[in-house]
Amino acid sequence: MVVDVQSKILPGVTHWQSPNFYAYYPANSSVAGFLGEILSAGINMVGFSWITSPAATELEMIVLDWLGKLLKLPQEFLSSGNCFASGHGGGVIQGSASEAVLVVLLAARDKTLRMVGKSALGKLVVYGSDQTHSALQKACQIAGIHPENCRLLKTDSSTDYALSPEIVSEAISHDISIGLIPFFLCGTVGTTSSATVDPLYSLAKIAKSNGMWFHVDAAYAGSACICPEYRKYLDGVEEADSFNMNAHKWFLTNFDCSALWVKDRNALIQSLSTNPEFLKNKASQANLVVDYKDWQIPLGRRFRSLKLWMVLRLYGVENLQNYLRNHIELARYFQVCVGQDPRFEIVAPRKFSLVCFRLLPPVDDNETRGSNKLNQDLLEAVNSTGRVFITHTVRTTTPLLCSSLALSGMYTLRLVVGAPLTERRHIDAAWKVLQDEAFTLLCSPLQ
Ligand code: PLP
Repeated sequence: MVVDVQSKILPGVTHWQSPNFYAYYPANSSVAGFLGEILSAGINMVGFSWITSPAATELEMIVLDWLGKLLKLPQEFLSSGNCFASGHGGGVIQGSASEAVLVVLLAARDKTLRMVGKSALGKLVVYGSDQTHSALQKACQIAGIHPENCRLLKTDSSTDYALSPEIVSEAISHDISIGLIPFFLCGTVGTTSSATVDPLYSLAKIAKSNGMWFHVDAAYAGSACICPEYRKYLDGVEEADSFNMNAHKWFLTNFDCSALWVKDRNALIQSLSTNPEFLKNKASQANLVVDYKDWQIPLGRRFRSLKLWMVLRLYGVENLQNYLRNHIELARYFQVCVGQDPRFEIVAPRKFSLVCFRLLPPVDDNETRGSNKLNQDLLEAVNSTGRVFITHTVRTTTPLLCSSLALSGMYTLRLVVGAPLTERRHIDAAWKVLQDEAFTLLCSPLQ
């Protein structure tokens, strides 16, 4: 078996835990997260209702309150004091940020339809930006939102690819004027392309004044906001209806563990609750407890809070903060390296541990190979060495079809520092690979 794993499985594995993995956004593993996984696998309960394993529900509420407090989320998002069914808000672990945005979109949709009537479904409109993760579009498809009513509003370099409140306001006013019903706005803290931060306060204000649900997706960058110096990027979340960060990305918690907080748990429950006879029990019937089955799509659920509990308890706040700071410092160091080489340029401002950059074409080469092809070739060459793995972002031309990895039509390389084992020597090595491959490409004849 071990031999088969080594010879048949591992050669086909992409090593996300390698210190040389800089692609997408990270997916951290850690001893604490791993222990939590083992314990969860060993206990192997299915905690859909409180009664099916009270500790699973109660630990999840407690741990998400801890994390919510670390992020300085407002009290309305927490379950504290409401350990049983009486509270208004609370946190829940979803499998992914995609599930998180789907469940809140369903809750918001149904809340609106209860007011305007079910027949208005075709008039409901959702707003995000062309940098919002494609999970929003998928959620719209599943929720039956008319494809033309998912507005991915244009961003550009003048706002560092952040959603402009003016553009949002204009789009909403226009839609209202033609009889449509705006009901959901998604802001992002740390977009997938370039880790841009949308202006949460202004967006929340617009959402509120139009009676819309405001969701904040901080899947990647939310982790950094446990550090006081990065918390400012969450300013405005106080006004949101829901907030999500992936502990399974950059928070040492093994996949999957996506933390979602809502202010109005009943909105979720009204959309997602079923109550078949075979699940009835005294505690649920008396409305004394939280049954997380009503806060998510599936019925069954794993004991995922165990790993987050282990991570928080075994590492503690200070170590976690320093872990995140170290990655951000390594990214800053990489950015300095790139900035000092005149053959390269930094393409987007860096806030967290993502650096967006590209190789500049030689002056006389612009028309023939073009900068996009050059950077595509560089990405291929670098990844083909097998010594590092980076990814890219580029914008398509039709806004509605925009990939979420998109920046102004320019093929851009992304290097994200976030693997637990990455040290400065790995960054040096990655930069050397990039420089060497760039040298080879720039010296090679055009194809
Ligand atoms: N939102 C943002 C900003 C992301 O960067 C990602 C993934 O990288 C997602 C959502 C989707 O995350 P998940 O894979 O948990 O659905």
